[in-house]
Amino acid sequence: MLIDFHTHIFSPHVCKHREQYCARDPWFDALYSNARIPLVTAEDLIAEMDASGVDASVAFSLGWCDPGLIEEGNDYIIEAMRHYPGRIYGMAVVQPLAGERAVYEVERCAKAGMIGVGELMPHGQGYKLSDITLLTPIMTAVRHYRLIVLSHCSEPVGHLYPGKGDVSLQDIVTFLTAFPDVYFVAAHWGGGLPFYSLMPEIQRATANVWYDTAATIYLYQANIFPIVAKLVGADRILFASDFGLLRQRRVIEHIKQAGLDAQALESILGGNAQHFLQLRQIGA
Ligand SMILES: [Zn+2]
Repeated sequence: MLIDFHTHIFSPHVCKHREQYCARDPWFDALYSNARIPLVTAEDLIAEMDASGVDASVAFSLGWCDPGLIEEGNDYIIEAMRHYPGRIYGMAVVQPLAGERAVYEVERCAKAGMIGVGELMPHGQGYKLSDITLLTPIMTAVRHYRLIVLSHCSEPVGHLYPGKGDVSLQDIVTFLTAFPDVYFVAAHWGGGLPFYSLMPEIQRATANVWYDTAATIYLYQANIFPIVAKLVGADRILFASDFGLLRQRRVIEHIKQAGLDAQALESILGGNAQHFLQLRQIGA
């Protein structure tokens, strides 16, 4: 079983009219104004999954600033889930600054069968993951529908890249401390959070955290896989490509060559995600 936990897909209209959407949304512009960054549809994702042997993918659009574009993006994800049941699992993008409208959107997407809220992009949307007052109404809905939360996380050091953002380790820990019961996927290896799990209080705070591997090739040496598996357990790592940014096949090959034992490899590539999706079904 191969499950990719982090992919971004867009409607054919968005893919065809990139410049229009860049003009309408500053965060989309920051990530996709470079025409060499691929924009992909649900069909592109399914074709990529077929070519790479991936059984299922978790998909979302992007942390647009404008709630109208967010809702359009979520509509497209819902459509994709219905088209490809069991192959595409959706997560809802939200703009917490939209207040009640954002809570309503979480409820709407949960009722449509989405499994979570994500990818949160606090840096692109103008809020902090540590703004507990702002996020409490959203997390109340998340708890009610037993949703997963997946957030972008930023390395506090190292090279800059479009979309890196400034989601700090402290922001994440503040969030986790406020919402300890929420299942949280820290994207891009949590910006390095696993290394601090050697601190007992951080180990406790991250009891319900999973780490996705999106964009690893651009960020870390391959031995991050066995090293983090040793730090937090291979059962806490989720294969994630960040497709269309990276090809799934390339990412799978990269993980296979990272020096993991067979059991760890199997759980990272799909076993852990399968367990996660089952948890969601129990809650449904
Ligand atoms: Zn991200």
